[in-house]
Amino acid sequence: MSELHFLNEELDKLKSDDLYRSMRTLTSGQGPLVEIDGRLVVCLCSNNYLGLAERKELRLAAIEAAKKYGTGAGASRLISGNLSLHEELEEELASFKGSEAALVFPTGYMANLGTICALVEKEDLVIGDRLNHASIIDACRLSGATFRVYPHKDMEALERILLRSREFRRRLIVTDAVFSMDGDVAPLREIVELAVKHVAILMVDEAHGMGVLGENGRGASEELGVEDRIDVNMGTLSKAAGCHGGYVSGRRELIELLKNKARTFIYTTGMSPPVCGAAMAALQIIRDEPDLRQRLKENSQLVRRSLGYGDAEIPTPIIPVVVGEASAATELSAFLLESGTMLPAIRPPTVPVGTSRLRVSVMATHTREQLKGACKQIKEGLTRFGSL
Ligand SMILES: *Cc1c(COP(=O)(O)O)cnc(C)c1O
Repeated sequence: MSELHFLNEELDKLKSDDLYRSMRTLTSGQGPLVEIDGRLVVCLCSNNYLGLAERKELRLAAIEAAKKYGTGAGASRLISGNLSLHEELEEELASFKGSEAALVFPTGYMANLGTICALVEKEDLVIGDRLNHASIIDACRLSGATFRVYPHKDMEALERILLRSREFRRRLIVTDAVFSMDGDVAPLREIVELAVKHVAILMVDEAHGMGVLGENGRGASEELGVEDRIDVNMGTLSKAAGCHGGYVSGRRELIELLKNKARTFIYTTGMSPPVCGAAMAALQIIRDEPDLRQRLKENSQLVRRSLGYGDAEIPTPIIPVVVGEASAATELSAFLLESGTMLPAIRPPTVPVGTSRLRVSVMATHTREQLKGACKQIKEGLTRFGSL
């Protein structure tokens, strides 16, 4: 027997546990409707919250950038891959976030990985919420720092950790601003207070807040009025901005340190020019069209109400429908696709065991009819396949 027989064993185990993952193939671009197997279905699972991924302005900006700079940056930024376009985007991001400087990474995942590993190491402590995104968790582990986790949004537990860890050289608290699988918002005011009181560094991941929350779309930290109290602001250009890439913003020395120490910045090719151009167009729209955020909020509340949940205090576009068992979530998801709604099952290890779910995510460009129809199907599916 080949030493590779473990591949089949592992795959069979995933299948028998209902945890096997496979991809659906889209034959259209991103939008409120997408084409699968020759059929248009309502897409209720995209992070393209503002519908920017299909906007003409972004497409044209990508084309223009490709015409001027070509398709690839050709090298890492520190070698010959640093284009004026990258610097313009970073200036725009810094100005958007109201911070001194910003740095772009090829993905949000890499922004978290490179930044956390540049800020803490063996002598240090990194503290995170239990439901933080996988890229943060991986970064905390890889950094070599001591890693402590507090139960979701449990501020007493966070303070206990801070009180008992004064021996460390540096302490970094890191949290999602909007939790990616639950759609709730971190208690940033309380976290800021604890960080200040106990002299810890604070990093906030606005992957799902950027473009979505706050009067100007700067995220949950703007919505909660704590922007200037956060040391390390991280966000992505891959979700509401409809492009690709991650960024960190903050004071100039922070950005200088990242340029010198973040391995996911140093040892990778600069962002491709078309993506960079499109991201600038996205920032412009996020600035100029606040009504998109308003429509997204209304759509999010419509779905919450239609599913029988109360209005959320801060209505994010992420609405989890927790089913429980992985098998039930998979069956419900298959039923929904058959009925015309794309909504894949989210299972462990993405979410804790026993909390498999459908993660509804709403777009500003969904019509009310699309959302109402999909909610009706979800409710019908829940009565058939059971909820917790
Ligand atoms: C999606 C996500 C990321 C990673 O961003 P990409 O740009 O997709 O790599 C990081 N943090 C959170 C909270 C996310 O949801």
